[in-house]
Amino acid sequence: MSHAAHPVSTSTGAFGGPARSGPAASATGLYKTYGHGETRVTALDGVGVEFGSGEFTAIMGPSGSGKSTLMHCMAGLDAISSGSVRIGGVELSGLDDEALTKIRRDRLGFVFQAFNLLPTLTARENILLPLQLAGRTPDREWFDAVVSSVGLADRLGHRPSQLSGGQQQRVACARALASRPEIVFADEPTGNLDSRSGGEVLAFLSASVRELGQTVVMVTHDPVAASFAGRVVFLADGRIVDELHRPTADAVLARMQRFGTDRAV
Ligand code: ADP
Ligand code: MG
Repeated sequence: MSHAAHPVSTSTGAFGGPARSGPAASATGLYKTYGHGETRVTALDGVGVEFGSGEFTAIMGPSGSGKSTLMHCMAGLDAISSGSVRIGGVELSGLDDEALTKIRRDRLGFVFQAFNLLPTLTARENILLPLQLAGRTPDREWFDAVVSSVGLADRLGHRPSQLSGGQQQRVACARALASRPEIVFADEPTGNLDSRSGGEVLAFLSASVRELGQTVVMVTHDPVAASFAGRVVFLADGRIVDELHRPTADAVLARMQRFGTDRAV
């Protein structure tokens, strides 16, 4: 086979990530239970899933279906009961706390429903804080690209209290991206936002995938939020029950209803 005829490139623009074979993260036979005896809860019931590099994947499902648990297990924030979780090629279950902390710090980014910004720091300082704590020098070109993509170039000197909720969450997204992580995990990033601000955050997350070559895995229970992703994985009672590619909000909603997963969230 001629290499010239099959150029290997996963680049998606000036900041496309390195060519990588295999998924950015994967789980196989993943079980997670909480508690013991009568209070035992099976939060994940044999999950197998792959998150492609350079893709925007949404994890959907009703409240209690295991979305956050899956994200926490895949990101090494929570220990699994059995099975396997890999980030890149690295099996997480074999790692001690120090190694897990290092992986989270160096290779992953996080966005949560609560923005978790430090109130006394400016937007710029908040974005750069994790890098500073890790003793890393920010890449100027990358920082500028992230800040411009997130639309905060003229707000970098503002403190969180001087920013709207949507702007604060965009700062939190920029902070998650500042280290140029292999994957950004976002758990209900629009859960505290009105639909317009939520739309801004979602537009940025999808632009980070499309234009900056990032990989994003986002937990949501909102069909509109899920429609920004390239692929939606549906979770019900701790199991992956289906997936949709290039989803529309209507298709996501219809699928949720078909699975009877349209319960209150
Ligand atoms: P989702 O994010 O989809 O709402 P979760 O992953 O938070 O769902 O929860 C899945 C199941 O695991 C639920 O039944 C929940 O009550 C249970 N659960 C989650 N975290 C814990 C915990 N720390 N201790 C006990 N049960 C938990
Ligand atoms: Mg949750």
